[in-house]
Amino acid sequence: MNRKDRWDEMMICSTCEQTIIAYKAQDGRCPHCGGELEPLDGFYERHPELRDEDAEPGH
Ligand SMILES: [Zn+2]
Repeated sequence: MNRKDRWDEMMICSTCEQTIIAYKAQDGRCPHCGGELEPLDGFYERHPELRDEDAEPGH
């Protein structure tokens, strides 16, 4: 499932939840806080505790 060659993939920082496109984070680290980046796709399935409650009305 690791596709680190996808430079146009959206990433999200697991620490500060900033989103960034993969090619702007070439070292795989968040430019804001230095935290580890994960693919945005499926992030909130892997980290449901980080889900913004306002993002899905009717929860
Ligand atoms: Zn960060």
